[in-house]
This record gives sequence, structure tokens and C-alpha cells, in this order.
Amino acid sequence: MRALRLLEWKSDPVLVEVDDPVPGPGQVVIRVGGAGACHSDLHLMREFGPGVVPWDPPFTLGHENAGWVQELGAGVTGLEVGQPVAVHGPWGCGTCARCRAGMENYCDDPAAALKPGGGGGLGLDGGMADLMLVPDARHLVPLPDGLDPVAAAPLTDAGLTPYHAVRRSWPKLVPDATAVVIGVGGLGHLAVQILQATTAARIVAVDTRPEALALAAESGADLTVQPGDGAAADIRAVTGGQGADVVLDFVGSDDTLALGAAVARTVGDLTLVGIAGGSLRVSFFSVPYELSVQTTYWGSRPELVEVLQLGARGLLRPTITTMSLEQATDAYRHMEDGTAVGRQVIVPNPS
Ligand code: NAD
Ligand code: ZN
Ligand code: ZN
Repeated sequence: MRALRLLEWKSDPVLVEVDDPVPGPGQVVIRVGGAGACHSDLHLMREFGPGVVPWDPPFTLGHENAGWVQELGAGVTGLEVGQPVAVHGPWGCGTCARCRAGMENYCDDPAAALKPGGGGGLGLDGGMADLMLVPDARHLVPLPDGLDPVAAAPLTDAGLTPYHAVRRSWPKLVPDATAVVIGVGGLGHLAVQILQATTAARIVAVDTRPEALALAAESGADLTVQPGDGAAADIRAVTGGQGADVVLDFVGSDDTLALGAAVARTVGDLTLVGIAGGSLRVSFFSVPYELSVQTTYWGSRPELVEVLQLGARGLLRPTITTMSLEQATDAYRHMEDGTAVGRQVIVPNPS
């Protein structure tokens, strides 16, 4: 079969022929119907090197995946060949308290979980291939009616990650609250839709690119702002000067974190999702009183079930450009040169 593989750090991935995977006991092979291109792939192919994460190439890219069950390993029950499924991407040890609660993204025993990778497309083979080996049937969520693998794939990361970040801040997102989304790409445009679908907060979107701000407005943003002089004042002005209750940073540079802290309200949340590697100085007088600053990583399996329901009900409508496996490297180029809008989804098997 064909597979887009990262063969070594700091290199471009290559499309190669590899053997078809065979499911062992408890495992499932899926025929991939959609594999989203995430900016994290760009970070890992451009910036990562030995020791940054506890796994190394070679592996097949693609960590937001959906498709159809192709072959069941011995002992797998509850799934049928041909059934459409989404892959919950973070793969933990499966036995610790967090994993048992579906929070494999925060597995208590990452050393056990990470042998030999952190998930499909992240050390282990991912979905930018004709077939994908899923090492345990528990990582699969059947697709609800109304959702096909192309639409479902981005929901497993570009949807799930902001869903988790928004969900944990729900108590602060009361109807007169303001949420700020910084970076309106694959994750950010779905963050805007999630805020609109699940809260009555005012939504402000920030991006450097006019086409991303147009997508933010289509997705439900009340105000769109380009960063730079005056951006913080413009955002504060729509909050009546109080500041934003929740800021979600999908970039994570020094500049975006500084903007986030500058517009945040006392007792607010500043949530760092983007991994551009910036930092923010937190000291007694440098941020608003009782501002909570945190990172988040992906989301839980129960949250993925909820995100897929939002998708099936039409409340989440990812803007998707589909591309063939042969075009996958173009997807990353578009993301890098700033011409991608929404999410690009690689479609190895159209049906
Ligand atoms: P993307 O490339 O689709 O979108 C990024 C957006 O940010 C683009 O629209 C871009 O124009 C905008 N942007 C860039 N610099 C900006 C700036 N200074 N100010 C405002 N906007 C700016 O990326 P994506 O796939 O949505 O991923 C976003 C980030 O989230 C990446 O860093 C990715 O690695 C990270 N990520 C984190 C998790 C997690 O679990 N924490 C999961 C997935 C992705
Ligand atoms: Zn990702
Ligand atoms: Zn675990």
C-alpha cells in the first residue's frame, strides 16, 4: 500500500510503498477515508529532533483519521467490517485511571504508552496511507449517521482539541462573557464554531490573514481583529473594558501570548494550545488577578463522541479542502506559505 512517511527528523515526508498492516489480537485495520493535515506535523517535520519527544522516525504521518473497518483482529467484538469509524488519536497505556476514563491524552503511565510511539502519526504509523493499523479497538468510535470519514477526520483533532479547551472553560463562558480565539486555521475556525454551538459568549477572532478572518466571521465570530498596534484596545473595547473571560491561543508565540494576557480579564482563562514555542512571564503584577494560564493537549474519548455528535447535527461544519495522497506534501506547503484555509484532508480512499 501507499504511505506518506517521515523517514528522519528535519526532512520532507515521502510517499512510499509499504506492506499492508495485519491486525493482531484485539487490533483493527481501517481503510482510511480521511486524514487531516495538522500544523503539528509541520512543527515535527521542521523543528523536532532527537530527544524532543520520546519517539523517532520513521513512521507514517497523519494523526487525525477516520475510515472504514477493513479487518478485525482475533477477539475484537462490537465492530463490523465496512463500518465507518473515527480514530481517537492519543494512545495511552489503556489501564491507568486516566485511560480508563477515556483521557488517554493524559495517561498516567506515558512510558508504557509511548513504546514505541505516542499515537498513530506520532511515532507509530498514522493515517496518511491506504490502510492504518489501530492497536486496540478501544481507540475507534463508530461514526454517527450523517457524518462521513472526510468530515469526521478533522473533528478528531482540529475539532476535539478546541472542544476540550472550550469545554473546560464552560463555567466562565456565561452569556455576557467574551472568548478570544487567536489563530483561525484548522483548529481555530472550529473553536469559533464550538463556542457558538455550546455557549452564548461574544466571540472575537484574531488572525494575521484576511482570508482566515473571513472564515472566522462565517464561522460565527462577532468581531475579527488583525494583531498589531491597537488590537488589544479594540478587543478590550468590545468587552466594555473588562477584558476577555477566556482566551484560546492556537498559535503560541511570544506575541500571541502577550496579546492574550493583555486582553484577559481577572479570574479568566488563558489557554495555550498552539506549539509555536513562545513563552509568557507570569508574576504577581504581570497578569490579571486570578488569571488561570494552562496548556491543553488533545481531548478525551468521551469528548470525541460529543464532537462527532455536534458534527452529525450540523453544528460543527469544518471547512475542508480534500486532496489525494499524492498531493499531501502540497497540503503542508500551503499551510506553511499561508494559503490554506480551514482544514486540508487527505483522502486515500474516496469510498
Ligand atoms: P493552521 O496552520 O491551520 O492555523 C494557524 C493559524 O494561525 C493560521 O490561520 C495563521 O494565519 C494564524 N497565525 C499565525 N501566526 C499568527 C499570529 N502571530 N497572530 C494571529 N494568527 C496567527 O494550524 P492548526 O493545524 O490549526 O494548528 C494550530 C496550532 O495548534 C499549531 O501550533 C499546532 O501544532 C497546535 N496543535 C496543538 C494541539 C494540542 O493538543 N495542544 C493539537 C493540534 C494542534
Ligand atoms: Zn494535530
Ligand atoms: Zn494510561
